[in-house]
Amino acid sequence: MSAPQAPVQRADFDQVMVPNYAPAAFIPVRGAGSRVWDQAGRELIDFAGGIAVNVLGHAHPALVGALTEQANKLWHVSNVFTNEPALRLAHKLVDATFADRAFFCNSGAEANEAAFKLARRVAHDRFGPEKHEIIATVNSFHGRTLFTVSVGGQPKYSDGFGPKITGISHVPYNDLEALKAQISDKTCAVVIEPIQGESGVVPADVAYLQGARELCDKHNALLIFDEVQTGVGRTGSLFAYQHYGVTPDILSSAKSLGGGFPIGAMLTTEDLAKHLAVGTHGTTYGGNPLACAVANAVLDVVNTPEVLAGVKAKHQKFKARLEQIGEKYGLFTQVRGVGLLIGCVLSEAWKGKAKEVFNAAEKEGLMVLQAGPDVVRFAPSLVVEDADIDEGLDRFERAAAKLTQA
Ligand SMILES: *Cc1c(COP(=O)(O)O)cnc(C)c1O
Repeated sequence: MSAPQAPVQRADFDQVMVPNYAPAAFIPVRGAGSRVWDQAGRELIDFAGGIAVNVLGHAHPALVGALTEQANKLWHVSNVFTNEPALRLAHKLVDATFADRAFFCNSGAEANEAAFKLARRVAHDRFGPEKHEIIATVNSFHGRTLFTVSVGGQPKYSDGFGPKITGISHVPYNDLEALKAQISDKTCAVVIEPIQGESGVVPADVAYLQGARELCDKHNALLIFDEVQTGVGRTGSLFAYQHYGVTPDILSSAKSLGGGFPIGAMLTTEDLAKHLAVGTHGTTYGGNPLACAVANAVLDVVNTPEVLAGVKAKHQKFKARLEQIGEKYGLFTQVRGVGLLIGCVLSEAWKGKAKEVFNAAEKEGLMVLQAGPDVVRFAPSLVVEDADIDEGLDRFERAAAKLTQA
């Protein structure tokens, strides 16, 4: 038994934490499936999924089992040794995707950091130092390390931290002509989110991704898909590139991959992977046995026809009801997204007020997400029960009714 814990409250956050977040007024303490309970015992339905992370909801028995079994065996050995869960996970990812090789780390930012460093290294080795330019898209999000905010297309995240990483340009998303005008033989990589997540749930057009693939091939540039948010079943395919039928050279994954346990992965081909030779890159925790044991269990459950088909069915259920609510209350004009990554685009009258919708939903006992100020985002568990979808959307409708009457 552990020692008794001192009581803590939300107010403690403002005393002892770095103030870079503004957490909600309540503290969740327990979860089961798509329900969460706070300190006061209030129950909420979770359509946020820890920002597209809790892919199988809370305390899924398969994940709890995998974690506790591994916890009793071996926690950590570093990369001076390899370990069984990491090798099993790599086999699973290689078998299920275009990739021949996996690199494990602890977050989406680190998976992208590895992807960008690999792309620059490949170009350096094959063509020399001139070929180092990275093309990313306006409004994109790739993480919060200095390299990844520099590549990300939102200056509010990269300004004010001194010199940024250079050799990076940003072109409008879903605009093939703009990419064509920017790409050159100095381009080492083009990085695209198949669906822009953080900036509003904006899906790519198939023709855009196909065109980007062709342009990259023409200029010996690598195509990187940031699938940190779209990967691991979220779109109803294991990865969004499979949904689109356009294959990248490098893919980054995180968020849902660990179902709530921190892990990231960079996937690539044999030919490219060999450029990260011994000593060129690394991380102490990457491929940690606990994280990999959980990710193995996540893939075993998610990468099945039942769960993936379920995502498509649940998408229809969400979309139909959300469109109805949006129209009835004049709250939003469009419901977009793929699978269980859904964005409701606020109408003119509610533009900029996604936070108010978030607050209204919370008051009714529902957790949702924003994706920028103009979009309300839903990223629930892929196995959310139909009854929870109905009850959660009832709560959302009550929130919409109160908000628009006020
Ligand atoms: C969340 C996210 C990241 C960053 O992942 P972290 O685990 O927060 O570092 C990168 N890219 C995309 C597309 C994301 O949604």
